[in-house]
Amino acid sequence: MLNFYPGPSKVYPEVRQYLVDAYDEGILSTPHRGEQFVHLSRTVVGSMKRKLNIPQDYHIFFVSSATECWEILVQSFTTHKSSHIYNGSFGEKWFQYAQKLRPEAEGFSFDFNETMPVSELQISPDTELICFTQNETSNGTQVSPTTILNLHNRYRDTLIAVDATSSMAGLNLKLIKADIWYGSVQKCFGLPPGLAIMACSPRAILRAKKIGERAHYNSLVTMHEKMLNYQTTHTPNEIGIYLLKRMLEDRPFIKGIDQHLTDRALDLYTFFEQFSDFKLLVENEEVRSKTVIALQGNDRLIEELKKRALHHGIRLGNGYGQWARNTFRIANFPAIEDEEYEELKRFFLHYYA
Ligand SMILES: *Cc1c(COP(=O)(O)O)cnc(C)c1O
Repeated sequence: MLNFYPGPSKVYPEVRQYLVDAYDEGILSTPHRGEQFVHLSRTVVGSMKRKLNIPQDYHIFFVSSATECWEILVQSFTTHKSSHIYNGSFGEKWFQYAQKLRPEAEGFSFDFNETMPVSELQISPDTELICFTQNETSNGTQVSPTTILNLHNRYRDTLIAVDATSSMAGLNLKLIKADIWYGSVQKCFGLPPGLAIMACSPRAILRAKKIGERAHYNSLVTMHEKMLNYQTTHTPNEIGIYLLKRMLEDRPFIKGIDQHLTDRALDLYTFFEQFSDFKLLVENEEVRSKTVIALQGNDRLIEELKKRALHHGIRLGNGYGQWARNTFRIANFPAIEDEEYEELKRFFLHYYA
């Protein structure tokens, strides 16, 4: 089965061997306060920084999901208000989640064919956290490095948090341009679900300490105190952390992965322009995602197309949110090999050209 689902997505085939090794090395039942775990945790933090280009002074945390990050960020970095800029379902969900905890949270939606309108935003001066989604998995759009830089320059004194769930470990993100970044491992990391990574700037840690929120097991201040010794507040997903360690050791540096995905995305976008039964959802080339490609057609055709693909051993991603029925999505993730995309192309050429 070829799997192009944008999460949980195809895992690296090496995961099979890593799992056996984890068993043999006793990782599956190692105490999370013991030396073996601390060593593992420290090694992963080092590899993350080296392989994914995370600044040395950023703090890394192990959490369970991107959704948990939505909660942590609102709890620990805001007392009354965060501001959310979004163009799709995941960004909107984050906003709605924030509103439940902090009713004053404000949202700014923009059209998914437009660049994020940084200069037009009327963000309240008293906001404590600006939030956006770097790669909107629901509609296949992305916020470019230039736009992130503009946002950073316009709001230098405000903490900025970025949901990079479907781009972290795929793109060479410039973490220095925002304070908080997170992503879960079932997307570009090519690993099974149940673990997410959050990286925070020194300034973000200071801000959290100043707020001093400690009411939750996942309060950032408490997590930070534990992580000074490479530990977690609770028993973490040890197998997930182990798999992350092995994967990072065996993979090239993020710069090379980014280049490969960028080239492959361009190739796929060009390829999919030739069909008339369905078209690329995102018309504006500048905002097209490099890691998730969304294609739109009428509901019936999309349903049939997905079924037919499945029949040929190809799993395409369903649409999501408001695009659930009239789109399908194709992940362009590092664990999927070029040859698999060639097979995907043959399928489309055979039935739809
Ligand atoms: C998948 C995804 C999430 C949710 O991730 P979980 O690990 O299931 O919480 C959040 N944001 C984006 C952009 C996503 O792609």
